[in-house]
Amino acid sequence: MAETIFGKIANAEVEADLVYEDDEVVAFRDLNPQAPVHVLVIPRKPIPTLNEAKSDDAELLGRLLLTAAKVAEQEGIAEQGYRTVINCNAGGGQTVYHLHVHLIGGRPLQWPPG
Ligand code: AMP
Repeated sequence: MAETIFGKIANAEVEADLVYEDDEVVAFRDLNPQAPVHVLVIPRKPIPTLNEAKSDDAELLGRLLLTAAKVAEQEGIAEQGYRTVINCNAGGGQTVYHLHVHLIGGRPLQWPPG
C-alpha cells in the first residue's frame, strides 16, 4: 500500500505532536481537534483499515486500545470519560488509510454520533 501521512509520522519523516510512542504504537494530537483532547493512536504497521486487520494483528489491536486508555489517564480524562472511535472506509468517515483509533474527550459527548 502507498505510505500515508500517518506512516510518515510513524517513521518520523513528518512531525507531529506525539504524546506516546513505543516499538509498535504511536499516539499524537489530531491537527483538527474535535474536542479539548483529540489524540490519534496508530500502529507502526501500516494496516489500511480495520477490514484488513488479520487474526495475527489481534494483540496489536489490543495494544491500540490499551494505549488509548493510557493516554486518557495521562491527559486527565480517564475518570470523567471519553470515547474511542475507529472510522472504517468512506461510509464510516475514514479519510486517512492507515488504521487509527481516535481518543476524544474533555467535553460532554453526544450519542449517537452523526
Ligand atoms: P479519519 O477521518 O478517521 O480518517 O481521521 C483522520 C484524522 O486525521 C482527522 O481527524 C484529521 O484531522 C487528522 N489528521 C490528518 N492529517 C494529520 C496530521 N498530519 N497530523 C495530525 N492529525 C492529522
